[in-house]
Amino acid sequence: MHMENTETAVVCKEQSDTYHPLFSSPGADVVLGARDGVLFRVHSFTLRTTSGWFRAMFSLPQKSESEQPVVIYMDEDSAVLEALLRCVCGLAIPRMDSYDLLEPLLYAAEKYEMPGPLSIARALSMTPPLLSSPLRLFAMACRYGWEDVAKLASTSSLSLDIHSPEHRTVLQKLTSVPLLNLFEFHRNRRELLRKRLNEAPFVDDGGGASCSHCGSAVDYHTWRELKYVMVLTMDSRPLGDTICDPGLTEWPEAQACWDARCVTCSRVLYDKKETLRAIRDCIDQLPIVIE
Ligand SMILES: [Zn+2]
Repeated sequence: MHMENTETAVVCKEQSDTYHPLFSSPGADVVLGARDGVLFRVHSFTLRTTSGWFRAMFSLPQKSESEQPVVIYMDEDSAVLEALLRCVCGLAIPRMDSYDLLEPLLYAAEKYEMPGPLSIARALSMTPPLLSSPLRLFAMACRYGWEDVAKLASTSSLSLDIHSPEHRTVLQKLTSVPLLNLFEFHRNRRELLRKRLNEAPFVDDGGGASCSHCGSAVDYHTWRELKYVMVLTMDSRPLGDTICDPGLTEWPEAQACWDARCVTCSRVLYDKKETLRAIRDCIDQLPIVIE
């Protein structure tokens, strides 16, 4: 219950006649006033059955000496009120491809205890226009307890460098637990890859290696440098996709690896095709959703 908000809904006599065209039926017994002056005629039955807040409000004794419906002035502007009322009145829902509409709609739906608009917003949150801002979606999903949406958003966030200052504002919307989980998820991918690159089938660059063909001492510093670049790349883009393409074919550090040869017998030190496949496998096996 959010009855503390009742004082924000000022009830007074109807003064204007700027009705929203979809909500202008004279038969409707309640008039809602948006912050920008647009009025919406709605049946009290609809509001009572779709909103806990209105149900509580209409259960209070009503002063109705006048035939004229009273106007209940709301905090929301007409775009948000229209979206909310379309959802609860069974009309076509508006385009919700921007957070600028979705976030205030969710806020209002939660305030007025309207599960219908909340469920519609949740379903729409997983569509491409909203998924294209994964951190904003992640914050929204955590705020409303949408675990599946949060997981989907966490996967999409892997193409972002969450340490970059440009994401600070949206990350500030998160509470500490989901924020720490997100940082850990991104860092884990980097750390797991770093660990895997030091294991078989990759060469051991710790020193004392010898050429498998002629037995001469070989130095794997080119592999060490390539690993360093891969780990750095995972830090700024934990998805790791740019490591395989174009990284391992175009980076100078990769080229140096593929060109490296034993100084004695000139045999190549690294099997390029096999190394590429092994690195790609390692990246593919990293966790793809947040815990
Ligand atoms: Zn050799």
